[in-house]
Amino acid sequence: MSRGRTSAFRRALDAAQPQGREHDRRWLFVPYDQLTDEVGPLSREDPTTLGILLVECPEKASRRPYHKQKLALVLTNLRHFAVEQAKRDVLVRHVVAVSYADAVRTHADKHGPLRMMRAAERELRVELASLVRDGQLEEVPHEGWLTSTEDFAESHRGPPWRMDVFYKYARRRLGILMDGGKPEGGRFSFDGENRKPWRGEPPAPKVPTFEPDEITREVCALVTTTMAHHPGRLTPEALPASREDAEKTWRWARKHCLPSFGPFEDAMSSASRSLFHTRISPLLNLLRLPAPRVVRDVAATTTLPLQSREGFIRQVLGWREYVRHVHEATDGFRTVGGAASRTAKHPGDGGWGAWQQRTWPRHAHAGGEGGSLASALGASQPVPPAYWGRSSGLRCLDTVVEGVWEDGYGHHITRLMVLANIAMLLDVSPRDLSDWFWVAYVDAYDWVVEPNVHGMGTFGVGELMTTKPYVAGSSYIDKMSDYCSGCRFSPKTTCPLPSLYWAYLGRHRKGLADVQRMRLPLASEAQRTAEQRRADAAVFDRVSDALARGESVPIDVRVAEVAQCHAKG
Ligand SMILES: Cc1cc2nc3c(=O)[nH]c(=O)nc-3n(C[C@H](O)[C@H](O)[C@H](O)COP(=O)(O)OP(=O)(O)OC[C@H]3O[C@@H](n4cnc5c(N)ncnc54)[C@H](O)[C@@H]3O)c2cc1C
Ligand code: SF4
Repeated sequence: MSRGRTSAFRRALDAAQPQGREHDRRWLFVPYDQLTDEVGPLSREDPTTLGILLVECPEKASRRPYHKQKLALVLTNLRHFAVEQAKRDVLVRHVVAVSYADAVRTHADKHGPLRMMRAAERELRVELASLVRDGQLEEVPHEGWLTSTEDFAESHRGPPWRMDVFYKYARRRLGILMDGGKPEGGRFSFDGENRKPWRGEPPAPKVPTFEPDEITREVCALVTTTMAHHPGRLTPEALPASREDAEKTWRWARKHCLPSFGPFEDAMSSASRSLFHTRISPLLNLLRLPAPRVVRDVAATTTLPLQSREGFIRQVLGWREYVRHVHEATDGFRTVGGAASRTAKHPGDGGWGAWQQRTWPRHAHAGGEGGSLASALGASQPVPPAYWGRSSGLRCLDTVVEGVWEDGYGHHITRLMVLANIAMLLDVSPRDLSDWFWVAYVDAYDWVVEPNVHGMGTFGVGELMTTKPYVAGSSYIDKMSDYCSGCRFSPKTTCPLPSLYWAYLGRHRKGLADVQRMRLPLASEAQRTAEQRRADAAVFDRVSDALARGESVPIDVRVAEVAQCHAKG
């Protein structure tokens, strides 16, 4: 991430930079995901007394095969933030360094201790821990969250933890969507009504685009030259880069998405990747849009249907806060159920190496371990090449994967009920799948991607944070999307997913026996004949083998096995 002295960014920063000496300022370290002056010291202290240290770290970018769109998103926002703050008379020091710790230490040696809002990412907290211990970095509370660690501890005794219990607590504590101690509309959740499939009406909003300025164009050029080996398509017009771009996205989301957000929350479509979802997660996670503001905005917009307001607030105040608390309370699942989990030695590549048949070229200084290897049901298969773009012949999977490598985006249900579901049916390792999501999505950071994939998406930590594995055959996808209508398989007859589902229940009967919400599915599975079970297991073997070889699932995968079993029987 080097930059020339005469780069457009450097010129813009130099032109905006206030007069004054570095020694006269009180310094803050602002990491890549705290790009705001709406909360924290930057929001209330006199800008002319402050300096901020901003760091670009090539090692971090090379740690994993991150999507090009994510690299560009983070870099262009960091650079735009630098110029925006200089224009407010904050003195800005922008450096390229081998590590965040090195940059902070060098700065602290010269100008004294810096302050920073506590890092959201565990990876960064670990890297900076020795500086905090030595007093070179003073941690102040991160004001971009709506709830605190104490709130989480008070909300209920855990583990296991449950999102709905935490959510009700947070609503009451903050008085959001509350009416005299009671939830607005008489209920805390309208989830049951928010399950409509989408058949083209109302039309899905057109996703906003942004005219790339010189800084963004320069960042894109940097990414396509020095990071050309990273996967994914780079689309400069899809990059919200400045504070104004973030506001434009939020105005669009409120006007065009939120009115229909609730009812179509679970719908999926090949005609629209986001439907009525807001696409604000990358901006929330960079703090370009602070979560407390978006929640309050939506709570106060009483012209929006309650169903949509509640649905949205449950995602941000509920799920988003919940997952980060679970991540922190378990040290990123390094402690599960009171026991320490094994950890991977190095950051994973999510299957990039197997797909490319070479080792991911990590920077010489790349460090860090690779996270928890907990796998409650023993799933340990690698991520198949289909997740990297090889055709699987399963239209649901191929459509969603194509979208991810084009956009770095997909909404919640495609992540959960297509990508994580199919991976779970194939016994893909929770660690490897978490790494795949981490590199593939523009909004992925350890505190959010690990609980969502390792915890919720794969049941990798059992009932620690969810009540069951979100596993399903084809009927859910058929009901909630249009994928099946264009698929070479028929959801009711030839699709392999129902057999994979039964095979999953059969394989994990013992591991799931104590999971209350799996009793009914397991009871149904118990009704299957030995012959059906053999057929299910055979479909699992054939699908797994084909996908592991990077081939499409054979069209007769189910028919052939059923016939074979009949013949044997
Ligand atoms: C397997 C899996 C992996 C995921 N990985 C990530 C990830 O890496 N980064 C990420 O930000 N979200 C992740 N999510 C949560 C969710 O899918 C995305 O936040 C959401 O799809 C982002 O799109 P949006 O902004 O259009 O969301 P909307 O549907 O418009 O929702 C509004 C906001 O709610 C928040 N939100 C909703 N659900 C969750 C959740 N489960 N956890 C945290 N925040 C939530 C997001 O900030 C989102 O922007 C994952 C979910 C699953 C099931
Ligand atoms: S038929 Fe099966 S494989 Fe095809 S899209 Fe539907 S669920 Fe997916």
